[in-house]
Amino acid sequence: EKSELLKLKDAPAVTLDGKHFELCANIGTPKDAEGAVANGAEGIGLYRTEFLFMDRSSMPSEQVQFEAYKAVAETMQDKPVIIRTLDIGGDKELPYMDLPSELNPFLGWRAIRMCLDRPEILQTQLRAILRASAFGKLRIMFPMVISVQEVKQLKAHVEQAKTSLREAAVTFDEQIEVGIMIETPAAVMIADQLIAQLDFFSIGTNDLTQYILAVDRGNESIAHLYDSFSPSVLRAIKRVIDASHAAGKWTGMCGEFAGDEQAALILAGLGLDEFSMSAPSVLKIKKVLRAQSSANLEALAEQCLNAEDGEAVRQLVSEFAL
Ligand code: PEP
Ligand code: MG
Repeated sequence: EKSELLKLKDAPAVTLDGKHFELCANIGTPKDAEGAVANGAEGIGLYRTEFLFMDRSSMPSEQVQFEAYKAVAETMQDKPVIIRTLDIGGDKELPYMDLPSELNPFLGWRAIRMCLDRPEILQTQLRAILRASAFGKLRIMFPMVISVQEVKQLKAHVEQAKTSLREAAVTFDEQIEVGIMIETPAAVMIADQLIAQLDFFSIGTNDLTQYILAVDRGNESIAHLYDSFSPSVLRAIKRVIDASHAAGKWTGMCGEFAGDEQAALILAGLGLDEFSMSAPSVLKIKKVLRAQSSANLEALAEQCLNAEDGEAVRQLVSEFAL
């Protein structure tokens, strides 16, 4: 079956009636990019840079980060690579940073909240990404955003890093695109205001599901309540996609949901533009999408939005895809 799928490696992810989707891979290390290429990914939809920070005993320097980001850019050649800025806190720790212990770490000092309070960490990372942008097609993505104010501050940081590089006569991609992850209910509700400041969205359903449902993604005793197929989550996803399209922009997804065969049918019907997943899932999802027409997928998605619960949604998809 694997060799059957490999025949699709260079085929586009296109429906029977010609609607095209972009299938990308999530990576945690520069080495992972090779697996993305081998599995036919059209780009990197999420490079989780925190592993670069976690796998060592002190902060990685600008040069160390630059070399990692450049390696990914070069492996992917002209294909797009979305680099997510440090998403530490929550369930991820940095031994050498001495993060405060918190009662509710998932509602705490994590991701851009920490980076905006420690601008030297953010500046170092942004300079490293910008320098590497001279070697490929890089994009910058910020996690855990809840407000327009944060986006404005983050963009000011990008400008500051650009200015410092210009002054040092270092080349970088002046047109580098900047986007955010949509992983908080707040970001969903103001998606129209946020997209006006940005080039793209990528929905992080791992966190978005836990925050919409108020269900800790790591708590096994309530794992049965953690369901990205819930119509509440699907409606949030629709709202975000529609807001981006109304502004002439695009929305991807880099949460686990994008790599689920049943979910992919619904997401395609909702108009998701880019799907990013673990590399081994790319060909499987490509096959699933290539077997459908977009009109049928849209009708399926519409039904799912109006289903009673996640179980009913899965039932609808099962009947559809039989
Ligand atoms: C997500 O929240 O969906 C996501 C992709 O980010 P992470 O899993 O790294 O929190
Ligand atoms: Mg997340």
